[in-house]
Amino acid sequence: DSSLASGDPAIAALIEKELRRQQSHLELIASENFASRAVMEAQGSVLTNKYAEGLPHKRYYGGCEHVDIIEELAIERAKQLFGAAWVNVQPHSGAQANFAVFLALLEPGDTILGMDLSHGGHLTHGSPVNVSGKWFKAVHYGVDPETHQLNFDTIRQLALEHRPKLIICGYSAYPRTIDFAAFRAIADEVGAYLLADMAHIAGLVASGVHPSPVPHCHVVTTTTHKTLRGPRGGLILCNDADFGRQFDKAVFPGSQGGPLEHVIAAKAVAFGEALQPSFRSYSQQVVRNAQALAERLQERGIAVVSGGTDNHLVLLDLRSIGLTGKLADRLVSDVNITANKNTVPFDPESPFVTSGLRLGSAALTTRGFDAEAFREVADVIADRLLLQDDAAVELRCRERVASLCGRFPLYGRQRELQHA
Ligand code: PLP
Repeated sequence: DSSLASGDPAIAALIEKELRRQQSHLELIASENFASRAVMEAQGSVLTNKYAEGLPHKRYYGGCEHVDIIEELAIERAKQLFGAAWVNVQPHSGAQANFAVFLALLEPGDTILGMDLSHGGHLTHGSPVNVSGKWFKAVHYGVDPETHQLNFDTIRQLALEHRPKLIICGYSAYPRTIDFAAFRAIADEVGAYLLADMAHIAGLVASGVHPSPVPHCHVVTTTTHKTLRGPRGGLILCNDADFGRQFDKAVFPGSQGGPLEHVIAAKAVAFGEALQPSFRSYSQQVVRNAQALAERLQERGIAVVSGGTDNHLVLLDLRSIGLTGKLADRLVSDVNITANKNTVPFDPESPFVTSGLRLGSAALTTRGFDAEAFREVADVIADRLLLQDDAAVELRCRERVASLCGRFPLYGRQRELQHA
C-alpha cells in the first residue's frame, strides 16, 4: 500500500509541478480560487470509497452511518450560510445542478430565457451546443448597448413576447450587482419560474457583500469552487422544502448516481469556513481588490466593460488598445499571469479570438493580496499589453510577478501539502 510518490511517481511529479505553477503564477481566472488545506484533506479522504445513493437516512446502501451525518452537516451549514429552507449538496458540478433544475421544472420543447453566452451568460443557460439549448427553445437577453448593464425593460419585453417557462439570471462574466427582485417581478408577470445561477458570486452572497437571490427566486444553483472557495462541485437551494423535494428526485435518480461523499465532506468544511467572520472580511477584500484592479487599468488607458465592477470580476475591453483577447491572453501568460480571453458584449471577434480578457480577484485575495498589490498587478498587465514588443519590459514584468508571488506565499511548504 504505497504512497502516491512511490506508487505512481509520474502523477506525483505532475501534481508537484502543478503546485509550483499555482505558487509561481498570478491566478486571475475569475472562476478559480485556492481551497484550504482542510477542504483538500476532506476531499482526498477515504470517503471516496463509499456508495451512498439516496439521501441521509434514506439510502440504498449499508454502512452510511457516518456519511449520513457528514451530508446532514453539509446541508445544515449551507442552509445557515444562505438562509435557505432546503438544500441539495449532491450535484457534481454547476452544470449538473442546472441540469437537475431543468429536469425538475421543464419538458423538452419548453421555452427558457437566459443571458446570451457572448454577453456573459453560461453555456448551460440555453447555448445551442449545450443540452439546455438542444432540448429547450432558448431565447436570450443581452446587456444594454450603452451601459453594458442589465436592462429590465428589454428583458421584460422579451419575457412578454416569448412567455418562457423558466427565466435564468446569474452569469459567468457580468461585473455588476444583479437585481433579483426586478427579475422576480418579470417572472411573476409572465408566470415563469425564476432560477438564479449564482455560481460566480456565491461567496459574496454568503458574506452579504452581494444581495442574496434566495428570497427572490424559485430556485438557486451554484458551484462551490469559485468565490465560495470550496471543492469543485454544485449545490441547489430553495426557499420551500416541498418544492425542494422535486430537485432531490431530479438529482438522484433523475440525473446522477452515487453522490461524491468526499466532495460533500469538503463542501461541509468550506461552508464551515464561510460561516466564520473572517470570510466576510475576505469577501469585502475581494470586491475592493477587483475595484482597485479595474481603476488602475482604466487609469492606464485600458477600457473596462460597464466602466467598473461591483463584484470579483473585471472584463477588459481590449478594443480600447487595439488588441484581441487571444493575443492579450498569450501576452500575460508569457509573464506568468493566468487569465482567460472572453467575449465582450457585442464583440466583433469570434469566440476563439474575442476582444476581452476576463480577470477575477478571488484567488489572489485568498493569497493575501491587498488593494495596493492589485494596483501593482494592474500595472504589470498594462505594461505587458501596452509595450508588448519590449523584451526588457517583458523581463521586468516576469520579475515583478515573481516578487509578488514571493510576498504572498501559497500553501506554505510543498512537502506539507502532499499530505493534504
Ligand atoms: N454556471 C455559471 C454561471 C458558471 O460560471 C459556471 C462555470 O463556470 C457553471 C454554471 C458551471 O459550473 P461547472 O463547471 O462546475 O459545471
